[in-house]
Amino acid sequence: MRYLLLTDIHSNLEALEVCLKLAQGKYDQALCLGDLVGYGPNPNEVIEKVRGLAKVIIRGNHDKACCGLDDAAEFNPFARLATTWTRQALTPEHFEYLRSLPAGPVMMDGFVLVHGSPLDEDEYILGPGQALPLLRGPQTQIVCYGHTHYQGGFMLTPAGRFQSIRCHSDRDGLILTLTLENSGRYLINPGSIGQPRDGDCRAGSAILDMDRHQVEFYRIKYDLAKTQDKMQKAGLPEPLYRRLGLGR
Ligand code: ZN
Repeated sequence: MRYLLLTDIHSNLEALEVCLKLAQGKYDQALCLGDLVGYGPNPNEVIEKVRGLAKVIIRGNHDKACCGLDDAAEFNPFARLATTWTRQALTPEHFEYLRSLPAGPVMMDGFVLVHGSPLDEDEYILGPGQALPLLRGPQTQIVCYGHTHYQGGFMLTPAGRFQSIRCHSDRDGLILTLTLENSGRYLINPGSIGQPRDGDCRAGSAILDMDRHQVEFYRIKYDLAKTQDKMQKAGLPEPLYRRLGLGR
């Protein structure tokens, strides 16, 4: 089975559409690791598209905040403004839909889906401090996570060595194929679709192939200017559409 992993879409329809087009014919089932909304200009359109496509969708911290399950008190002022904007933009149906999304972890066949971490849906896995205890812990061999907006993740090699999974490449499309060893352990971040923060403004996604024991990481350009223009016209804060161009 080949799973398309989508995460941190953040109401960015242009980026989502390009990722889906790139993945066409390459996967059997789509899964979403949360943060469908927040920051971007098309929350309703993104929910509609992901809901019609993904077999499993778990909630992210922005999904919770935008439907009132969380007060966004820990968000920075710009993220909070975007949360308020999104709450007003959501149709009543989509507002309720976000409220109904399950929290991770969700167990799949041979791997786990979380937004932040298996221990806490809002925790950021940023480095060895958070990753090592998880890789050495009792969790499943493969955990797929999002939330940090950094593509790649972390692994323990069969020899027990800790490594970051680095995906940097200027190539468009497939940028890295990672082989999953039987005795290795993996934290896999497919990368943010709608607001990457790893210095590359292109949309990130990944395909987990459980038959071939590999993960393919993808990066693709999208019509960034169009998304930024929509955000400006919607009155969303300028730093939020400027950061899209920086990938930070
Ligand atoms: Zn996010």
